[in-house]
Amino acid sequence: MSIQILPARLANQIAAGEVVERPASVVKELVENSLDAGATRIDIEIEQGGAKCIRIKDNGSGVNKEQLTLALSRHATSKISHLDDLEAIVSLGFRGEALASVSSVARLTFTSKPADQDEAWQAIAEGRDMQVHIQPAAHPQGTTVEVLDLFFNTPARRRFLKTEKTEFQHIDELIKRIALSRFDIAISLKHNNKIVRQYRAAPTQQQQEKRIAAICSEQFIQNAVFFEHQDQALKISGWVSDRLSPRPLADVQYCYINGRMIRDKLVNHAIKQVFAYYLPQGTFPGYIIYIECDPKEVDVNVHPAKHEVRFHQARWVHDFISSTLNTTLNDSSLVTESTPQA
Ligand code: ADP
Ligand code: MG
Repeated sequence: MSIQILPARLANQIAAGEVVERPASVVKELVENSLDAGATRIDIEIEQGGAKCIRIKDNGSGVNKEQLTLALSRHATSKISHLDDLEAIVSLGFRGEALASVSSVARLTFTSKPADQDEAWQAIAEGRDMQVHIQPAAHPQGTTVEVLDLFFNTPARRRFLKTEKTEFQHIDELIKRIALSRFDIAISLKHNNKIVRQYRAAPTQQQQEKRIAAICSEQFIQNAVFFEHQDQALKISGWVSDRLSPRPLADVQYCYINGRMIRDKLVNHAIKQVFAYYLPQGTFPGYIIYIECDPKEVDVNVHPAKHEVRFHQARWVHDFISSTLNTTLNDSSLVTESTPQA
């Protein structure tokens, strides 16, 4: 067989395999785009677990009519332009791949009105030929992205979708994690026209704890202590449940780095190690931890879904987390009361 360049659609579909695993991954990419666009309000509507419809509306910066087609093209991004930028990513997205990938495996409509444009415009892309059609539309400032019939043209992947209930659970869990990452954003989530989640912006700690109670249970926040610690270049804050937690609290284990939710071995190890000292075997800590550092200190370009990160000074980060949690747990009366002395 001779070597040939893949047609755009096929190339995008292959890339989509990495980014778009299921409806929840589409929601993740789209909500992250809304956050990157500076939205303060994001409304999400899902039908049939996302297989039928995913609609995300934001009040962010929007995209100009002239740039709509580009926004849907592969490797098209407004977030980085130089290799240097990759060294210090401040946005959630940067690969310029999500919209192209999603539109190659679904029917995608992108409707947008930036502040400096009088009318809204809509771009329609249907997996078939990757042609983008542009037409006038009605929309307030911001963007709505609608994704219909996910995987309609890749039947093998469509068959891999789980039940409506399971797919929606993944979306719900994702929205919880995002709602915990950005208290300044108002978020709503509907499934089959019913409101499932609705959070107002929560600027004060009291309002934040109310949001946490709604997401993680009243029980978690009742038993949790808030902590905050800052070194010159590293800040860590959050809540840990300061009492031996029964099983259900084990689900409250969230960790964010610069607003990005991550599952990181190094961070997990630091947390586990500290808790192993305080909690008897078979009990599980609950925590929500926010780490903020200079974006130069952490490489997020490790995996397409960006769950993993790489710290340049791993040991330093590890020790900082350990010492902060140690101090917090040491100072919290409940742990000392209920911890058997060694
Ligand atoms: P990336 O997020 O990696 O840049 P995407 O394919 O997700 O790539 O998006 C491509 C571009 O489209 C973004 O860089 C951004 O300029 C624009 N865009 C996408 N979604 C939105 C949105 N909700 N509001 C404003 N601009 C958006
Ligand atoms: Mg993106």
